[in-house]
Amino acid sequence: MAKTYMVGNWKMNQSLADIENFFSDLKLSHNQNNYWIAPQTLHISHVLKLAGDKGVLVGSQNISDQDHGAFTGEISSDSLMELGGHFCLVGHSERRQYYNESDEFINKKVLKAIEKGLVPILCVGETLAERDAGKTIEIVLGQIKAGLDSVQLNNESELLLAYEPVWAIGTGKTATPAMAQEVHGKIREFLAERFGEIGPDISILYGGSVKPANVSELLAQADINGGLVGGASLKAADFSALCDATN
Ligand code: PEP
Repeated sequence: MAKTYMVGNWKMNQSLADIENFFSDLKLSHNQNNYWIAPQTLHISHVLKLAGDKGVLVGSQNISDQDHGAFTGEISSDSLMELGGHFCLVGHSERRQYYNESDEFINKKVLKAIEKGLVPILCVGETLAERDAGKTIEIVLGQIKAGLDSVQLNNESELLLAYEPVWAIGTGKTATPAMAQEVHGKIREFLAERFGEIGPDISILYGGSVKPANVSELLAQADINGGLVGGASLKAADFSALCDATN
């Protein structure tokens, strides 16, 4: 059975003082290594110190496709592992949209993360124009197929997927649970075909304006195994409530 996760993507938010307050206010129950946070890269070391006491695992919002060397500004998997990082987001729609990350490039990052022992969360999703044109499934499965090219898994905990409709990210608009489930169901079918018996156990997160008020009905869907949350992960009370909902 796929495990349920709650993952906070802090994007380029939170000061050091905000981070201190967040962890002193954070109250988590039933933590089974399934509550994760991706802070700004510059804050990862600091967050790791505070998150450890709460059992929260920490990761990055992006990762390099390269090992090491002359790649100015990049984030090394080895260095993240050395610090104690656990996972990385790959192919977030903001990276695709603002930094022109292609499916091929994203695939190299996924492969590098897995090679180094980090868990990539491969993010996919359609724009509003693509949804209106009836192309949602084609776009989402196309991104997944390309992003997972040549990927081999030994077990389900080596990879997470996140379906995030671009039109729902940071907009306050959430896909209805039925809309999200329709896409998650197709992703599940693809994963079962692609990875055999591991496929049903790979967690598929939903992202796009998830908040305490809508999380339960989303998590009640058969193939929604958690949330990837931006705005509502910034406040300890909201993130605690979202984590509680995974139980
Ligand atoms: C995200 O950053 O992946 C996200 C889903 O943001 P928000 O929850 O703010 O829509």
